[in-house]
Amino acid sequence: MRVKRIAVLGSTGTIGKKALEIIYQYPDRFKLKAIACWSNIRELEKQIRRFDPKIVAVGDVQAAKNFKTKKKLFIGQDGIDSIASLGDVDIVLIAINTTSALSSVLAALKSGKDVALANKEALAMAGSVIMQTAKKHNAQVLPIDSEQSAIWQCLQGHDKSLLRRVYLTASGGSLYRVAASRFANLTKKEVLAHPRWKMGAKITVDSATLMNKALEIIEAMWLFGLNFEQIKVLVHPEAIIHSMVEFVDGSIIAQLAVTDMRLPIQYALGYPQRFNSKQNIDFLKLGSLHFDKPDLKRFQCLMLGYEAAKTGGSLPCVLNASDEVAVNAFLKDKIPFLAIPEVIEKVMRKHKVIKNPDLDSLYRIDNWARIKTQELLCRF
Ligand code: MG
Repeated sequence: MRVKRIAVLGSTGTIGKKALEIIYQYPDRFKLKAIACWSNIRELEKQIRRFDPKIVAVGDVQAAKNFKTKKKLFIGQDGIDSIASLGDVDIVLIAINTTSALSSVLAALKSGKDVALANKEALAMAGSVIMQTAKKHNAQVLPIDSEQSAIWQCLQGHDKSLLRRVYLTASGGSLYRVAASRFANLTKKEVLAHPRWKMGAKITVDSATLMNKALEIIEAMWLFGLNFEQIKVLVHPEAIIHSMVEFVDGSIIAQLAVTDMRLPIQYALGYPQRFNSKQNIDFLKLGSLHFDKPDLKRFQCLMLGYEAAKTGGSLPCVLNASDEVAVNAFLKDKIPFLAIPEVIEKVMRKHKVIKNPDLDSLYRIDNWARIKTQELLCRF
């Protein structure tokens, strides 16, 4: 078996760190070629010592000024994109947690590399461009997001035309059992206390608002060529079933595993191989699994997401950009929790949807939505 040469973008984040451990653990299968981070120099230095990549990139120009290394160093967003298109790399794992991942995704695909994608914001902003670019350059987008990985795994060996629908499961996030009357006064700590997954701050807030699920609907539509109507969201608090697919004959296949991102990362990097691991589910301890309808009244972001996914065109781009700005403001204690759906909705209403936007239009719309959101946030 040929060793896969890998570049990890966003190496200092939650997924990036796990990916480096996996690559290190299987030296006969993977070789780490390059890593890139935005500004966490301290963690980056540790990673260079431990994992010894040949090439390194730092996105933040200011942070790069105080950084000395004997490795080949690239700086800035262009620097990260250069790592995404290095000659001797087979898979680019992209775990950058903002929409800025888009340029790296496109750089990697244009140079014919498979992209193991943990970022959903880029697909929400420009899914059509990403999928077209992948097709044109004969490259694959390999999902890392646990729900998408589940759908991908369930589809193996099946004809996609026989698919009736998919069930996208949601743990429900930190607010699943919190009454609507409490939402106006929620603290950041409450919102960030996710019961099942340990993740970065932005995605944890998105899980609390269920915007994460909204983005995953859009993600699934692009990755698997699905219509909005084919995707059903199912709250499943145990988060053991990571998603399910239903075929035309009514047969349903689910993927189950413990909540550990190592598995989807390993699957994306090793595909189509599977590796030994100690993970297993104790069904007797688990006892039962539960399912529930998502509450669209309490979680308006999901409602807005349904609208964006159904409408398509440039609306998902607006939803995504506005959410990123609003969540950032919430994390900086500038706005209350309920302002997040409020401003996103207002920005969506102000936007005139374009049906088939090209990349330039999407960048323009993304920028417009960020400015509009910022303006509205100032009123809080
Ligand atoms: Mg997910």
